[in-house]
Amino acid sequence: MTLQVQSQISLRPYNSFGVDVRARFFADAHNESDVREALAYAAVEQVPLWVIGGGSNLLLTRDVDALVVRMSSRGLRVLSDDGESVVVEAEAGEVWHPFVLWTLEQGLSGLENLSLIPGTVGAAPMQNIGAYGVEIKDVFAGLTALNRESGELKDFSLDECAFAYRDSLFKQQAGRWVILRVRFKLHRSVSLALHYGPLQQRLQEQGVSEPTALDVSRAVCSIRSEKLPDPAVLGNAGSFFKNPLVSAELAAELKQAYPGLVAYPQADGQVKLAAGWLIEQAGWKGFRDGDAGVHKLQALVLVNYGSASGAQLLALAQRIQADIAKHFRVQLEIEPNLY
Ligand SMILES: Cc1cc2nc3c(=O)[nH]c(=O)nc-3n(C[C@H](O)[C@H](O)[C@H](O)COP(=O)(O)OP(=O)(O)OC[C@H]3O[C@@H](n4cnc5c(N)ncnc54)[C@H](O)[C@@H]3O)c2cc1C
Repeated sequence: MTLQVQSQISLRPYNSFGVDVRARFFADAHNESDVREALAYAAVEQVPLWVIGGGSNLLLTRDVDALVVRMSSRGLRVLSDDGESVVVEAEAGEVWHPFVLWTLEQGLSGLENLSLIPGTVGAAPMQNIGAYGVEIKDVFAGLTALNRESGELKDFSLDECAFAYRDSLFKQQAGRWVILRVRFKLHRSVSLALHYGPLQQRLQEQGVSEPTALDVSRAVCSIRSEKLPDPAVLGNAGSFFKNPLVSAELAAELKQAYPGLVAYPQADGQVKLAAGWLIEQAGWKGFRDGDAGVHKLQALVLVNYGSASGAQLLALAQRIQADIAKHFRVQLEIEPNLY
Protein backbone atom coordinates (compact mmCIF):
# COMPACT_ATOMS: atom_id res chain seq x y z
CA MET A 1 0.00 0.00 0.00
CA THR A 2 1.39 3.44 -0.85
CA LEU A 3 1.44 6.27 1.63
CA GLN A 4 -1.68 8.47 1.64
CA VAL A 5 -0.63 12.03 2.46
CA GLN A 6 -3.28 14.61 3.39
CA SER A 7 -2.70 18.39 3.54
CA GLN A 8 -3.78 20.97 6.12
CA ILE A 9 -5.26 18.50 8.60
CA SER A 10 -6.55 19.45 12.07
CA LEU A 11 -4.61 17.54 14.71
CA ARG A 12 -7.43 17.87 17.24
CA PRO A 13 -8.43 14.18 16.99
CA TYR A 14 -4.78 13.14 17.25
CA ASN A 15 -3.79 14.66 20.60
CA SER A 16 -5.36 13.80 23.95
CA PHE A 17 -5.46 17.48 25.03
CA GLY A 18 -7.84 18.04 22.09
CA VAL A 19 -5.87 21.12 21.04
CA ASP A 20 -6.83 22.38 17.59
CA VAL A 21 -3.75 23.07 15.48
CA ARG A 22 -3.14 22.17 11.84
CA ALA A 23 -0.50 19.94 10.31
CA ARG A 24 0.81 20.93 6.89
CA PHE A 25 0.91 17.23 5.91
CA PHE A 26 -0.42 14.12 7.67
CA ALA A 27 -0.13 10.40 6.91
CA ASP A 28 -0.61 7.03 8.62
CA ALA A 29 2.39 4.68 8.44
CA HIS A 30 1.26 1.06 8.40
CA ASN A 31 4.72 -0.46 8.05
CA GLU A 32 8.43 0.26 7.66
CA SER A 33 8.12 0.94 3.96
CA ASP A 34 5.49 3.66 4.66
CA VAL A 35 7.95 5.29 7.08
CA ARG A 36 10.66 5.25 4.42
CA GLU A 37 8.23 6.68 1.86
CA ALA A 38 7.25 9.42 4.32
CA LEU A 39 10.91 10.34 4.84
CA ALA A 40 11.36 10.65 1.06
CA TYR A 41 8.14 12.71 0.77
CA ALA A 42 9.25 15.09 3.54
CA ALA A 43 12.65 15.52 1.84
CA VAL A 44 11.00 16.44 -1.48
CA GLU A 45 8.62 18.89 0.23
CA GLN A 46 11.51 20.20 2.35
CA VAL A 47 9.61 19.87 5.61
CA PRO A 48 10.64 17.98 8.77
CA LEU A 49 9.03 14.63 9.51
CA TRP A 50 7.41 14.22 12.93
CA VAL A 51 6.38 10.79 14.17
CA ILE A 52 3.53 10.47 16.65
CA GLY A 53 1.58 7.60 18.19
CA GLY A 54 -1.65 8.16 20.12
CA GLY A 55 -0.85 11.82 20.87
CA SER A 56 -1.30 11.28 24.61
CA ASN A 57 1.97 12.88 25.64
CA LEU A 58 1.99 16.00 23.47
CA LEU A 59 1.28 19.68 23.98
CA LEU A 60 0.83 21.39 20.60
CA THR A 61 1.37 25.11 20.95
CA ARG A 62 1.27 26.10 17.25
CA ASP A 63 0.53 24.79 13.77
CA VAL A 64 2.87 21.99 12.79
CA ASP A 65 4.84 22.87 9.67
CA ALA A 66 5.90 19.28 9.03
CA LEU A 67 4.77 15.92 7.71
CA VAL A 68 3.14 14.33 10.77
CA VAL A 69 3.32 10.55 10.55
CA ARG A 70 1.07 8.57 12.86
CA MET A 71 2.43 5.08 13.54
CA SER A 72 -0.42 2.71 12.65
CA SER A 73 1.48 -0.56 12.17
CA ARG A 74 -0.12 -3.64 13.72
CA GLY A 75 1.17 -7.04 14.78
CA LEU A 76 1.74 -9.07 17.96
CA ARG A 77 3.85 -12.20 18.13
CA VAL A 78 5.58 -14.61 20.52
CA LEU A 79 9.29 -14.79 19.65
CA SER A 80 10.44 -17.38 22.16
CA ASP A 81 8.97 -19.46 24.97
CA ASP A 82 11.01 -21.71 27.28
CA GLY A 83 7.97 -22.60 29.38
CA GLU A 84 8.75 -19.87 31.92
CA SER A 85 10.20 -16.81 30.15
CA VAL A 86 8.39 -15.64 27.05
CA VAL A 87 9.60 -12.90 24.71
CA VAL A 88 6.82 -11.10 22.87
CA GLU A 89 7.09 -8.44 20.18
CA ALA A 90 4.60 -5.74 19.20
CA GLU A 91 4.57 -3.34 16.26
CA ALA A 92 4.91 0.34 17.16
CA GLY A 93 1.34 1.29 16.18
CA GLU A 94 -0.31 -1.27 18.48
CA VAL A 95 -2.37 0.48 21.15
CA TRP A 96 -0.74 -0.09 24.52
CA HIS A 97 -3.64 -1.23 26.72
CA PRO A 98 -5.08 -3.84 24.30
CA PHE A 99 -1.49 -5.13 23.94
CA VAL A 100 -1.24 -5.49 27.75
CA LEU A 101 -4.58 -7.37 27.75
CA TRP A 102 -3.31 -9.66 24.99
CA THR A 103 -0.23 -10.58 27.11
CA LEU A 104 -2.50 -11.33 30.06
CA GLU A 105 -4.69 -13.54 27.85
CA GLN A 106 -1.54 -15.51 26.94
CA GLY A 107 -1.10 -16.16 30.70
CA LEU A 108 1.93 -13.85 30.93
CA SER A 109 2.78 -11.49 33.76
CA GLY A 110 4.98 -8.40 33.72
CA LEU A 111 2.89 -5.61 32.18
CA GLU A 112 -0.17 -5.71 34.46
CA ASN A 113 0.85 -2.63 36.52
CA LEU A 114 1.07 -0.64 33.28
CA SER A 115 -2.56 -1.32 32.31
CA LEU A 116 -4.67 1.49 30.89
CA ILE A 117 -1.78 3.84 30.06
CA PRO A 118 -2.92 5.61 26.87
CA GLY A 119 -0.84 5.61 23.70
CA THR A 120 1.04 3.16 21.53
CA VAL A 121 3.70 0.49 22.01
CA GLY A 122 6.20 2.46 19.89
CA ALA A 123 6.03 5.52 22.13
CA ALA A 124 6.34 3.54 25.39
CA PRO A 125 10.18 3.46 25.35
CA MET A 126 10.35 7.21 24.64
CA GLN A 127 9.79 8.11 28.27
CA ASN A 128 10.16 4.61 29.75
CA ILE A 129 6.49 4.63 30.75
CA GLY A 130 5.83 3.72 34.33
CA ALA A 131 3.04 3.33 36.84
CA TYR A 132 2.38 1.62 40.20
CA GLY A 133 6.01 0.71 40.83
CA VAL A 134 6.88 -0.71 37.37
CA GLU A 135 8.58 0.85 34.34
CA ILE A 136 8.98 -0.77 30.94
CA LYS A 137 12.72 -1.04 31.54
CA ASP A 138 11.87 -3.77 34.10
CA VAL A 139 10.49 -6.09 31.37
CA PHE A 140 12.22 -4.70 28.30
CA ALA A 141 13.89 -7.19 25.93
CA GLY A 142 14.86 -4.95 23.00
CA LEU A 143 13.52 -2.82 20.17
CA THR A 144 14.12 -2.18 16.50
CA ALA A 145 14.38 1.39 15.27
CA LEU A 146 15.07 3.09 11.96
CA ASN A 147 17.86 5.63 11.88
CA ARG A 148 16.31 8.53 10.00
CA GLU A 149 19.62 9.90 8.77
CA SER A 150 21.27 6.71 7.49
CA GLY A 151 18.12 4.68 6.78
CA GLU A 152 19.63 1.72 8.66
CA LEU A 153 17.79 -0.51 11.10
CA LYS A 154 19.26 -0.99 14.56
CA ASP A 155 18.36 -3.42 17.35
CA PHE A 156 18.71 -1.81 20.76
CA SER A 157 19.47 -3.76 23.94
CA LEU A 158 18.31 -2.63 27.38
CA ASP A 159 21.65 -0.98 28.20
CA GLU A 160 21.73 0.97 24.95
CA CYS A 161 18.35 2.64 25.63
CA ALA A 162 19.59 4.65 28.65
CA PHE A 163 16.23 4.31 30.37
CA ALA A 164 15.70 6.52 33.41
CA TYR A 165 12.70 8.07 35.16
CA ARG A 166 10.46 9.28 32.26
CA ASP A 167 13.55 9.38 30.04
CA SER A 168 15.49 7.42 27.44
CA LEU A 169 18.05 7.76 24.67
CA PHE A 170 15.15 8.24 22.23
CA LYS A 171 13.83 11.21 24.18
CA GLN A 172 17.36 12.64 24.45
CA GLN A 173 17.91 12.19 20.70
CA ALA A 174 14.40 13.30 19.69
CA GLY A 175 13.82 13.02 15.96
CA ARG A 176 16.74 10.67 15.27
CA TRP A 177 15.03 7.28 15.56
CA VAL A 178 11.69 5.87 14.46
CA ILE A 179 10.82 2.99 16.76
CA LEU A 180 9.31 0.22 14.64
CA ARG A 181 8.74 -2.64 17.08
CA VAL A 182 9.39 -3.39 20.76
CA ARG A 183 10.12 -6.65 22.63
CA PHE A 184 9.29 -7.57 26.22
CA LYS A 185 10.43 -10.47 28.42
CA LEU A 186 7.40 -11.73 30.37
CA HIS A 187 6.80 -14.67 32.69
CA ARG A 188 4.46 -17.59 33.02
CA SER A 189 4.95 -17.79 36.80
CA VAL A 190 3.28 -15.01 38.73
CA SER A 191 5.85 -12.57 40.11
CA LEU A 192 3.87 -9.47 40.90
CA ALA A 193 5.04 -5.99 41.90
CA LEU A 194 2.66 -5.14 44.72
CA HIS A 195 4.73 -2.70 46.78
CA TYR A 196 2.65 0.34 45.75
CA GLY A 197 0.37 1.02 48.75
CA PRO A 198 -2.88 2.02 47.00
CA LEU A 199 -2.65 -1.09 44.81
CA GLN A 200 -2.40 -3.40 47.84
CA GLN A 201 -5.28 -1.54 49.42
CA ARG A 202 -7.49 -1.87 46.34
CA LEU A 203 -6.82 -5.63 46.12
CA GLN A 204 -7.73 -5.97 49.81
CA GLU A 205 -10.94 -3.99 49.27
CA GLN A 206 -11.76 -6.35 46.41
CA GLY A 207 -11.20 -9.34 48.71
CA VAL A 208 -8.31 -10.67 46.60
CA SER A 209 -5.73 -12.36 48.84
CA GLU A 210 -3.68 -14.26 46.23
CA PRO A 211 -3.84 -12.03 43.16
CA THR A 212 -3.21 -13.15 39.61
CA ALA A 213 -1.72 -10.78 37.03
CA LEU A 214 -5.26 -10.24 35.73
CA ASP A 215 -6.45 -9.26 39.23
CA VAL A 216 -3.64 -6.69 39.43
CA SER A 217 -4.54 -5.31 36.00
CA ARG A 218 -8.19 -4.96 37.05
CA ALA A 219 -7.21 -3.23 40.30
CA VAL A 220 -4.91 -0.82 38.42
CA CYS A 221 -7.69 -0.06 35.92
CA SER A 222 -10.19 0.65 38.69
CA ILE A 223 -7.80 3.02 40.52
CA ARG A 224 -6.82 4.81 37.30
CA SER A 225 -10.43 5.25 36.17
CA GLU A 226 -11.28 6.93 39.49
CA LYS A 227 -8.15 9.04 39.68
CA LEU A 228 -7.48 10.27 36.16
CA PRO A 229 -9.79 12.10 33.77
CA ASP A 230 -10.64 10.24 30.56
CA PRO A 231 -9.15 12.27 27.66
CA ALA A 232 -12.20 11.35 25.54
CA VAL A 233 -14.28 13.38 28.03
CA LEU A 234 -11.82 16.00 29.30
CA GLY A 235 -8.65 16.81 27.33
CA ASN A 236 -5.43 16.07 29.21
CA ALA A 237 -2.02 14.41 28.87
CA GLY A 238 -1.88 12.62 32.23
CA SER A 239 0.78 13.90 34.64
CA PHE A 240 1.89 17.27 33.33
CA PHE A 241 5.02 17.60 35.46
CA LYS A 242 7.69 15.08 36.41
CA ASN A 243 8.21 14.37 40.10
CA PRO A 244 11.27 16.54 40.89
CA LEU A 245 14.50 15.17 42.31
CA VAL A 246 16.05 17.42 44.97
CA SER A 247 19.02 17.26 47.33
CA ALA A 248 18.58 15.56 50.70
CA GLU A 249 19.33 18.95 52.37
CA LEU A 250 16.51 20.76 50.59
CA ALA A 251 14.13 17.85 51.23
CA ALA A 252 14.96 17.98 54.96
CA GLU A 253 14.38 21.75 55.09
CA LEU A 254 11.06 21.42 53.29
CA LYS A 255 10.01 18.56 55.58
CA GLN A 256 10.53 20.81 58.58
CA ALA A 257 8.46 23.58 57.08
CA TYR A 258 5.83 21.19 55.65
CA PRO A 259 5.62 18.00 57.77
CA GLY A 260 3.16 16.47 55.27
CA LEU A 261 5.68 16.69 52.40
CA VAL A 262 5.51 13.56 50.22
CA ALA A 263 9.14 12.51 49.62
CA TYR A 264 10.84 9.32 48.46
CA PRO A 265 14.60 8.93 49.16
CA GLN A 266 16.48 7.56 46.12
CA ALA A 267 19.45 5.17 45.97
CA ASP A 268 21.77 7.99 44.81
CA GLY A 269 21.04 10.14 47.89
CA GLN A 270 18.62 12.49 46.14
CA VAL A 271 14.98 12.71 47.16
CA LYS A 272 12.01 12.51 44.80
CA LEU A 273 9.12 14.81 45.73
CA ALA A 274 5.51 14.35 44.67
CA ALA A 275 4.91 17.21 42.21
CA GLY A 276 1.13 16.87 42.67
CA TRP A 277 1.48 17.45 46.42
CA LEU A 278 3.54 20.63 45.88
CA ILE A 279 1.03 22.00 43.34
CA GLU A 280 -1.90 21.21 45.61
CA GLN A 281 -0.19 22.85 48.62
CA ALA A 282 0.38 25.98 46.54
CA GLY A 283 -3.39 26.16 45.97
CA TRP A 284 -3.61 25.33 42.26
CA LYS A 285 -5.87 22.28 42.43
CA GLY A 286 -9.13 23.04 40.61
CA PHE A 287 -7.81 26.39 39.29
CA ARG A 288 -9.31 27.45 35.96
CA ASP A 289 -8.38 30.24 33.58
CA GLY A 290 -10.72 30.21 30.58
CA ASP A 291 -10.68 26.66 29.26
CA ALA A 292 -7.23 25.83 30.67
CA GLY A 293 -7.24 24.39 34.15
CA VAL A 294 -5.81 22.14 36.84
CA HIS A 295 -7.93 19.06 37.44
CA LYS A 296 -10.28 19.20 40.43
CA LEU A 297 -9.16 15.88 41.87
CA GLN A 298 -5.60 15.56 40.59
CA ALA A 299 -3.32 18.62 40.86
CA LEU A 300 -0.70 17.03 38.58
CA VAL A 301 -3.05 16.96 35.60
CA LEU A 302 -3.69 20.04 33.44
CA VAL A 303 -6.97 19.90 31.54
CA ASN A 304 -8.58 21.50 28.51
CA TYR A 305 -12.24 22.24 29.26
CA GLY A 306 -12.96 22.72 25.55
CA SER A 307 -11.19 25.26 23.44
CA ALA A 308 -7.98 26.07 25.32
CA SER A 309 -5.04 26.53 22.99
CA GLY A 310 -1.70 24.85 23.59
CA ALA A 311 -0.21 28.28 24.27
CA GLN A 312 -2.82 28.92 27.01
CA LEU A 313 -2.09 25.55 28.61
CA LEU A 314 1.65 26.24 28.43
CA ALA A 315 1.17 29.71 29.99
CA LEU A 316 -0.73 28.11 32.88
CA ALA A 317 2.04 25.51 33.29
CA GLN A 318 4.65 28.28 33.41
CA ARG A 319 2.69 30.17 36.09
CA ILE A 320 2.60 26.99 38.17
CA GLN A 321 6.33 26.40 37.64
CA ALA A 322 7.16 29.95 38.77
CA ASP A 323 4.93 29.66 41.83
CA ILE A 324 6.40 26.31 42.91
CA ALA A 325 9.93 27.68 42.45
CA LYS A 326 9.00 30.67 44.64
CA HIS A 327 7.24 28.64 47.35
CA PHE A 328 9.48 25.58 47.57
CA ARG A 329 12.68 26.43 45.60
CA VAL A 330 11.89 23.44 43.39
CA GLN A 331 11.96 23.58 39.58
CA LEU A 332 9.20 21.50 37.99
CA GLU A 333 9.93 19.95 34.59
CA ILE A 334 7.17 19.57 32.01
CA GLU A 335 6.58 15.91 31.07
CA PRO A 336 4.70 16.05 27.72
CA ASN A 337 6.59 16.73 24.50
CA LEU A 338 6.11 20.34 23.40
CA TYR A 339 5.71 21.42 19.81
C1 LIG B 1 -4.86 10.03 31.07
C2 LIG B 1 -3.39 9.78 30.83
C3 LIG B 1 -2.68 8.99 31.74
C4 LIG B 1 -1.31 8.75 31.54
N1 LIG B 1 -0.66 7.96 32.43
C5 LIG B 1 0.67 7.70 32.27
C6 LIG B 1 1.36 6.86 33.19
O1 LIG B 1 0.79 6.33 34.15
N2 LIG B 1 2.68 6.65 32.99
C7 LIG B 1 3.34 7.19 31.92
O2 LIG B 1 4.55 6.94 31.81
N3 LIG B 1 2.71 7.97 31.02
C8 LIG B 1 1.39 8.23 31.16
N4 LIG B 1 0.74 9.04 30.26
C9 LIG B 1 1.47 9.60 29.13
C10 LIG B 1 1.35 8.79 27.82
O3 LIG B 1 0.27 7.91 27.88
C11 LIG B 1 2.62 7.99 27.52
O4 LIG B 1 3.73 8.84 27.46
C12 LIG B 1 2.51 7.22 26.20
O5 LIG B 1 3.60 6.34 26.07
C13 LIG B 1 2.45 8.14 24.99
O6 LIG B 1 2.16 7.33 23.87
P1 LIG B 1 1.60 7.97 22.53
O7 LIG B 1 1.55 6.87 21.52
O8 LIG B 1 0.33 8.67 22.79
O9 LIG B 1 2.78 8.97 22.16
P2 LIG B 1 2.67 10.43 21.51
O10 LIG B 1 2.08 11.36 22.51
O11 LIG B 1 2.05 10.35 20.18
O12 LIG B 1 4.23 10.76 21.33
C14 LIG B 1 5.04 10.96 22.46
C15 LIG B 1 6.48 11.19 21.97
O13 LIG B 1 6.99 10.00 21.41
C16 LIG B 1 7.40 10.21 20.05
N5 LIG B 1 7.02 8.98 19.34
C17 LIG B 1 5.80 8.39 19.32
N6 LIG B 1 5.87 7.22 18.65
C18 LIG B 1 7.14 7.07 18.23
C19 LIG B 1 7.84 6.07 17.48
N7 LIG B 1 7.23 4.95 17.05
N8 LIG B 1 9.16 6.26 17.21
C20 LIG B 1 9.80 7.38 17.64
N9 LIG B 1 9.20 8.35 18.37
C21 LIG B 1 7.88 8.20 18.66
C22 LIG B 1 6.65 11.47 19.60
O14 LIG B 1 7.37 12.15 18.60
C23 LIG B 1 6.60 12.26 20.89
O15 LIG B 1 7.83 12.94 21.10
C24 LIG B 1 -0.65 9.30 30.42
C25 LIG B 1 -1.37 10.08 29.49
C26 LIG B 1 -2.73 10.33 29.70
C27 LIG B 1 -3.49 11.13 28.69
